[in-house]
Amino acid sequence: ETPRPTDFIRQIVREDLASGRHAAIKTRFPPEPNGFLHIGHARAIWTDFGIAAEFGGWCNLRLDDTNPVKEDPVYVEAIKDDVRWLGFDWHDLRHASDYFEVLYLSAEKLIRQGDAFVCDLTAEQVREYRGNLTEPGRNSPFRDRGVDENLDLFRRMRAGEFPDGTRTLRAKIDMASGNINLRDPALYRIKHAEHHQTGNDWPIYPMYDYAHSLSDAVEGITHSLCTLEFEDHRPLYDWCVDKVDLARHPELVAPLTGKGLPFEASKPRQIEFSRLNINYTVMSKRKLMALVQDGLVDSWDDPRMPSLQGIRRRGYTPSALKLFVSRLGLSKQNSLIDFSVLENTLREDLDAHAQRRMAVLAPLKFVLGNLPEGHEETLRFANHPKDESQGEREIPFSRELWIERDDFAEVPPKGWKRLVPGGEIRLRGAGIARVDEVIKDADGEVVELRGWLDPESRPGMAGADRKVKGTIHWVSAKHAVPAEVRLYDRLFNVPDPDDDTDGKTYRDHLNPESRTVVRAYVEPAAALATPEQSYQFERIGYFVADRRDHRSDAPVFNRSVTLRDTWTG
Ligand code: ATP
Ligand code: MG
Ligand code: MG
Repeated sequence: ETPRPTDFIRQIVREDLASGRHAAIKTRFPPEPNGFLHIGHARAIWTDFGIAAEFGGWCNLRLDDTNPVKEDPVYVEAIKDDVRWLGFDWHDLRHASDYFEVLYLSAEKLIRQGDAFVCDLTAEQVREYRGNLTEPGRNSPFRDRGVDENLDLFRRMRAGEFPDGTRTLRAKIDMASGNINLRDPALYRIKHAEHHQTGNDWPIYPMYDYAHSLSDAVEGITHSLCTLEFEDHRPLYDWCVDKVDLARHPELVAPLTGKGLPFEASKPRQIEFSRLNINYTVMSKRKLMALVQDGLVDSWDDPRMPSLQGIRRRGYTPSALKLFVSRLGLSKQNSLIDFSVLENTLREDLDAHAQRRMAVLAPLKFVLGNLPEGHEETLRFANHPKDESQGEREIPFSRELWIERDDFAEVPPKGWKRLVPGGEIRLRGAGIARVDEVIKDADGEVVELRGWLDPESRPGMAGADRKVKGTIHWVSAKHAVPAEVRLYDRLFNVPDPDDDTDGKTYRDHLNPESRTVVRAYVEPAAALATPEQSYQFERIGYFVADRRDHRSDAPVFNRSVTLRDTWTG
């Protein structure tokens, strides 16, 4: 059970509802469809959708698609899939591009009010004029253009008369502001590029701050929740909302009413929270994209990727992720979370919910010579040791078993509790066995064990409780199903893969052992898994039937996480 979260944003929301400032809470999750979502986005999704749901409001999914060249509908579909996977649903699916006409009309309004001007400086000149933290900027020589000239030029920008980068529309704010975002920021740029939603309708595209703030206002968003890097943009956000003032200018949103989109104008409040950062990984869409493009991982949903598609395929569950982000909560303080915290949350979730199965990853034959040739029986095992409601399953048992090679030692190290020549072991749920003979090949490699099953030690018998040192898992050789098991580990082998001192990049810190593939044997009931079903393979770890490749007649399992942390303490 997760306690009801009480972070500072929820506190603000609670007060805004209590005071009657808002009758209902409206939020949005605004990813740019230029890549796949990652674990960090789970915090934003849990915040935006979670808060709306907790307080009986709603949350829109808004694709922030103002960069036509970097965006693609493939990402839109993946984002929708990820949000639903986490168990959330949107009130409306919107695109910032739905508002291009509104944004354009609003820009003309800003020009008429004397709050925006067309600037002919090149990008490089704009940078020069902008100044820096210690030096105020200088006014553009085009800043005092008259309204008519500005309107004419802006309309011609819109008509496609000018080449890319030759002009911008800029807000007229304050070139001496201590906040560089307020030094006459660009509102529009010229870009002759096809857009995945609007085709070739627009040769100009709105800039992020302008489009984002007004999209929030158009949708009636009450609380615009975002990460800390936007804190310095908040004054510009407020400037855009106030200067355009959609709530009092319904004529600006007429194009939407025509499209059948509801319009509810609000004065949204931006509130920032810290980004989720985790060590042993990189979390930026750009870097994740590079890993795929450079062939360092197989795909976007490679189970080693920190993309939501990747960790889903790895076997992370929505409940584990939600537990993880809700425990961390929200704050204004950036911090770095240890990867083991994420892994422990998954262990906790799977320990409570995943059924148990037996699988042998490095098989060694063990023949119980005192059982008759062809002996077969069916045992019943509980699916979960702590949860009877998970029921039972049947496990075939026979004379020849597969056990783990590692569970036998000819010359045991100190403290060894498993099989040795002449020694006894408990075969999980089947009885006590002894090794009498070790068969080796010409190279001296152990290829088979032969032994004896104590007939008095079978389940339910008096001798079953006799004390032996260890218990091992096994599968019946005749009934075992061969399976491909992919043993995944962390993608990076250093806590800070982004550390670039001594000229390295995250590419130099890839863990060469992040994936090992083995041929294993699993019990028949494991093979029957449906894709994405998770199990604990007893004594080994947590595994998931691969979402894409698993079939009951050709099982494929991914290791989600080991039973215990092998990286720290
Ligand atoms: P990236 O830099 O990884 O590409 P982004 O911030 O550009 O991410 P967007 O698609 O713009 O990604 O993000 C959508 C929402 O998710 C934004 O509100 C953003 O603040 C939030 N978000 C992105 N990364 C994180 C993170 N690591 N932790 C919490 N929220 C995040
Ligand atoms: Mg972004
Ligand atoms: Mg980004």
